[in-house]
Amino acid sequence: MSPAPAVAAPGTVRQRRQATGGASDRSWLADAWRRDDGFLAPPARRRLARRTANALPGVVILLGVAGVIRGAFAPAGGVGRWPLLGIVAATAATCVVRAIRRSTEGHPIRVPEELELGAVLVVWAAALAQLASPGNVEGPLFPLVYLTVAVAVAFLSIGVGLGLVALAGALQVATWWSAGATPGDFPALLARVGFILLFAVLYHAVMWTRLAAARRAEREAVDGRLREVDERAREIRLLSPRAADREGAGETEQVRVRAAAVQVEAAMSGVMEVAEAALRSHTCALFLLSPDGSTLRLRECRSASDHVTRAPIPSGEGVLGTVLSRGAPLRLHGDLRSATCYDDGTRPRALLAAPLLERRGGHVRGVLLADRIEDRPFDEADEKLLLRVAGELLRAVESERILLGLQAQRDEQELFYGAIEVLNRKSKTQEVLDAAIEVVARIVPLDFGAITLHEPEEASQPHRIVKAVASSPDGLRSTELEGRRFAAETGLVASAVRHGASLPGAGERVDRLRIFDEGTRLQGLGAVRVFPLQSGEHVLGTLVAGSRLVNAFDGDAARRLEVIAMQVADALLRARLLEQTERLASTDGLTGLSNHRTFQARIDDQLRLARRYGQQMSVVICDVDRFKSVNDTHGHPVGDLVLRGLARVLSSEARETDLVARYGGEEFAIVMPETDGAGAQVIAERIRTRLQGTCFPTGAGQLQVTLSLGIATFPEDGTEKARLIEVADRCLYQAKRSGRNRSIRARDLSAGRTPC
Ligand code: GH3
Ligand code: MG
Ligand code: MG
Repeated sequence: MSPAPAVAAPGTVRQRRQATGGASDRSWLADAWRRDDGFLAPPARRRLARRTANALPGVVILLGVAGVIRGAFAPAGGVGRWPLLGIVAATAATCVVRAIRRSTEGHPIRVPEELELGAVLVVWAAALAQLASPGNVEGPLFPLVYLTVAVAVAFLSIGVGLGLVALAGALQVATWWSAGATPGDFPALLARVGFILLFAVLYHAVMWTRLAAARRAEREAVDGRLREVDERAREIRLLSPRAADREGAGETEQVRVRAAAVQVEAAMSGVMEVAEAALRSHTCALFLLSPDGSTLRLRECRSASDHVTRAPIPSGEGVLGTVLSRGAPLRLHGDLRSATCYDDGTRPRALLAAPLLERRGGHVRGVLLADRIEDRPFDEADEKLLLRVAGELLRAVESERILLGLQAQRDEQELFYGAIEVLNRKSKTQEVLDAAIEVVARIVPLDFGAITLHEPEEASQPHRIVKAVASSPDGLRSTELEGRRFAAETGLVASAVRHGASLPGAGERVDRLRIFDEGTRLQGLGAVRVFPLQSGEHVLGTLVAGSRLVNAFDGDAARRLEVIAMQVADALLRARLLEQTERLASTDGLTGLSNHRTFQARIDDQLRLARRYGQQMSVVICDVDRFKSVNDTHGHPVGDLVLRGLARVLSSEARETDLVARYGGEEFAIVMPETDGAGAQVIAERIRTRLQGTCFPTGAGQLQVTLSLGIATFPEDGTEKARLIEVADRCLYQAKRSGRNRSIRARDLSAGRTPC
């Protein structure tokens, strides 16, 4: 036997588990018992104790439930009921203490804990109720059960509450049943269960209503405070009235402005405290001017009186009005009849007031006022001090304004570079058009946005509106504008394209401007600007931006939009080139039909779909009859003309869902989705007869050609692409052999039929 250490080192159990392979499915307890030192290490002992303590309430609840059902707590239960009741009560107390401790520590009480707590309380109440109830009669302590259930429903989560109501009801029913299910006791049982339910519902309803009312009151208080902060922000011009009304004023911006307003409030409060102490005033109050300048309102106050007026004071009245209009401090002493700012008529004997005068712009934002009731006038030193205080207040506002300005500038820059990045990522024309308006709307307050393209090949009406977005329907119907064409000489768009410059210049009246043409006037806009989409020397079109705000595109905004317009132009050009390259890669240069590669890809796609949805599909391969002789007789250019004409016939006679491709040389192929062999032959015949009756005008006169066609169908003629093409080829070969100018299906091949 190996000697066991007296105290196992921490982690021993884990180490041994690893040494023996550490199978995770082996329990820690089994592992501990398997140890050769014969007893548990301290951490393991602690865990065992903790787990036992955790399991204890469950065991007590089960014991209590059994006891209640068997009537063990009733007087007939004898002395043995007291220890059992004591255990239940102690467990209930432990659970309550644990729950209180958890919630005071800020931990949420988990559902199993809630359930345990509620159940032990219900069992405890039912046991107590049974103490004083002989037989199955409801004792005087029974209301405790109602109360416990009600409290559980009110304070625990709804699911747990419901579970506890069910437990309390079930306990009653089971007790009644175990006592012999006497029919005479049934009405009393019903009443008890009914009351349990009633109490639960009533308590829940009451708590819910009170909670809802409290939440509403809290929400209203928060809203009220936010309104007050916004109002303050407007008064001290942290938030311009225009910016506040703007729909696009971002949430972050609003949060920042509010935070700044709260900072200013705190600064004001601190400065006022200093002023009051230094001036030894009766009242020291700050009145701020409303954003429209019509009234003054008390915003900060240190006063021995509760009657300083909180109502708005007209800005042209009394001492405050005088200070506002003079923009200079005022010192008064004596019988100040009209100098009261109290709603109980208190008359100070001395008064000192100073305007809050901003150095930059000279705007007056409010009045700072101090007064004394005793006959002690303010002197020059007091006036200087009040002016210093006013200066400090304004400095606090100014520094917050600067901070906000810097943050706004950084935001704008981020938006701007973000917008350029977004545009650079777009590779399709439509994506660029959509993104262009979107990014402009992020940078400026946009109510109308449009993009026009200049297409010189459309000589009479070279401008086309390809995208138009209006934020509101009145007068700006964007849907009517998209796709509209207009002439070269009219409107700002045409001029912007012609001169490669953004228009209009400053000072032009927006309502008189003709942006596109005479027929499309935009109403309700305060500002409009047209930016050329210029890439190098090339002007591709214009970006039109409109806003209800008069100065939406002034200064920096216009410069940014000019750069954005250039980026849009570059992105458009890139997208065009890419689309052109893609088109070239997928189409045949001579006929404009899809090329061989596209045919192969499409047939793969269609086969996949047909397999998946259990549909049929057909492939037709056709070859011009005796085409070599056309070339030999009239030359290759004439042959090319015929091939082009033939491609037109194929395209017009095939259906929209069919893919017509040039297979190679004078061979063509058609993929026909969801088409069986018979259907494919109908189309093939339609093409053949139409071609037979068509003359192609060429330099060598009118020429006519015929076509032979082979048809294979999935799945009857083959399930793989190669097989289908091979079968169609064989059919075509058969058509040639049997006299040309005909179509042949695989079925006809195997049947040995040769249709004419
Ligand atoms: P059939 O198919 O009826 O057996 O006779 P065919 O004369 O059409 O047969 P063949 O396949 O021998 O000749 C096909 C001719 O198509 C040969 C080639 O000069 C001509 N060809 C292939 N591609 C072009 C093209 O792009 N332009 C012109 N003009 N001719 C082409
Ligand atoms: Mg051929
Ligand atoms: Mg041929």
